[in-house]
Amino acid sequence: CQIDKDEPVGATCDVTFKEINEINRQIRSDLLALVHSDFFKYFKLDLYKQCPFWNDNDGYCVNRACAVDVVEEWDTLPAYWQPEVLGGLDNESFGGENIASDECAFLDQLCEGQKNGALSKPDVNYCDLEDFSNEKSVLVDLTANPERFTGYGGMQSTQIWSSIYKENCFSSEQAGTCLAKNAFYRLISGLHASIGTHLSNDHLNTETGAWEPNLELFMARVGNFPDRVANIYFNYAVIAKALWKIRPYLSHLDFCNAYHEDVKSMINSVITRLNSKIFNEDLLFKDQVTSTLKDDFRMRFKNVTKIMDCVHCDRCRLWGKVQTTGYATSLKILFEFDSEDEEGKQNVVDKLTKYELIALFNTFDRLSKSVEAITNFEKMYDSTVNSM
Ligand code: FAD
Repeated sequence: CQIDKDEPVGATCDVTFKEINEINRQIRSDLLALVHSDFFKYFKLDLYKQCPFWNDNDGYCVNRACAVDVVEEWDTLPAYWQPEVLGGLDNESFGGENIASDECAFLDQLCEGQKNGALSKPDVNYCDLEDFSNEKSVLVDLTANPERFTGYGGMQSTQIWSSIYKENCFSSEQAGTCLAKNAFYRLISGLHASIGTHLSNDHLNTETGAWEPNLELFMARVGNFPDRVANIYFNYAVIAKALWKIRPYLSHLDFCNAYHEDVKSMINSVITRLNSKIFNEDLLFKDQVTSTLKDDFRMRFKNVTKIMDCVHCDRCRLWGKVQTTGYATSLKILFEFDSEDEEGKQNVVDKLTKYELIALFNTFDRLSKSVEAITNFEKMYDSTVNSM
């Protein structure tokens, strides 16, 4: 991908691409097991929430033809390959009323003492938490609905991306704005590139019906743009550092009953392999930066999480929500942790809702899978070039 792997991932990261590849190789299987555990595989969202920013039917393409640019001649394909089916959610995977079943009951009762869920004042949240307490929301099994190619595309998705990038228009001229803008852009572009990697890696071959990596698509979306690849690694560093920061405070968290020790040891085996130099958040909002800039950053990121309610493809919306919530949670940890205040740090962790925690680890898994897929695409690329 025309990247020097021995170079640091960015000015705020004291770690190289090669080092991240190595860390990722070490943690990959434990992280995968963690996000497949009963505690981490469910996410809650309201699939019917009204888009808060514009009238859905006003100026936005909502019909199936919007997806035709990705796969040609959709109409000739079987019904189960249509975008609304590919992008739909597996009905079996909903919690709903059945969530009272033994398997998932712990999600609702988690955990004694009502540690989770209470929102602190003033607002320190970088995401919209409403879905997690909304009674219209449903629980979805993430492992039954993998993030992959859905056929969602055309004007609708492009306009959503454009609205997200527009959140980066900071007006302030104060010191530090440029750095904050750059970080905001890298976060969004890294998310966008990671989604592009997943939809290329788990892509529908309409001739054979197999789900498989599509090198050509990956190169067109991500591989031919070294900055997009670098932004995936940047995001990896951001989330990894947030996880590293909360490690000392996780021992207070209760993952309930039989799952408790298992989940804790899986978390530990992932986080102990991360290190503090992976990302230096102190360089981003330096001392001289006023809290207005940080507030602005937080509000803008919160808007990005709300824009997910405008995504028409259910599965894209689900994974968009999970990942924007995961980034928002990591930003909260990175920027609201006061290094001098041990009690305050414990407080931030105790007040994380279980869904923020679930989103944080699942977002890390998404990036980890992207990094693994990029390595695989590089090998495919090399063997294609060598066989020419
Ligand atoms: P888009 O990806 O829509 O990009 C629009 C423009 O943004 C491009 O022309 C380019 O100029 C620029 N751009 C592209 N990538 C980057 C980047 N990384 N950094 C900076 N600029 C960039 N599709 C699926 O198949 N599966 C999914 O799970 C899925 N999830 C989605 C989740 C969300 C929240 C959204 C908004 C879309 C999702 N999509 C998903 C759709 C997918 O992201 C693309 O929008 C779609 O495949 C059409 O791609 P495109 O090539 O037309 O350009």
